[in-house]
Amino acid sequence: MRIIKDKFTSKNFSSRKGTKIDMLVIHHTGGEYSSDVNWMCSKESKVSAHYYIRKNGKIYNLVPDKEKAWHAGDSFFDLNGDGKIIRDEKWFNARSIGIEIESLGEEYPDDQLQANFDLSLDLIKKYNIPIEQVLGHKEISPGRKVDPGNFNMDAFRILLHGKLHEVDVRNIKRIPIKIDGKELQKTV
Ligand SMILES: [Zn+2]
Repeated sequence: MRIIKDKFTSKNFSSRKGTKIDMLVIHHTGGEYSSDVNWMCSKESKVSAHYYIRKNGKIYNLVPDKEKAWHAGDSFFDLNGDGKIIRDEKWFNARSIGIEIESLGEEYPDDQLQANFDLSLDLIKKYNIPIEQVLGHKEISPGRKVDPGNFNMDAFRILLHGKLHEVDVRNIKRIPIKIDGKELQKTV
């Protein structure tokens, strides 16, 4: 996996102020390559993401991981599964890495899906991000956002989990992932 670092850079970021990275947020842009990067790299937009993945699978790094990119917006989530909803734009951006996938909402090409998977796995390993904190924008901004569209976040988490732990089905004790609100551990 090759990450292109200097072709596009966005100044739309601020400091994480020491907040540790422990979340990954996946988006799709709703746009196309040149307009996407122009938008995220223009000062007026005040939006950005750490990574942008083109349809051809090329990965661009727009904002350094150590900085807080502006991608989540007004978001909320029951992070600990205890019914306590956390709602704070700054809080989500401060702790997360944002990946934008080039798409107008159509099916994603294989090269692009593979790049997103490889990059996500890499970031999860690098920052020790819990799989249940790999989230789609639509999951932390329900009602406001629908991205990533055509993208099954549950399946994505399961695939990442399997790859991360080299899952041998005979050894599965617990997968900390819920589907339709039900813990999978009872069924595997
Ligand atoms: Zn989004």
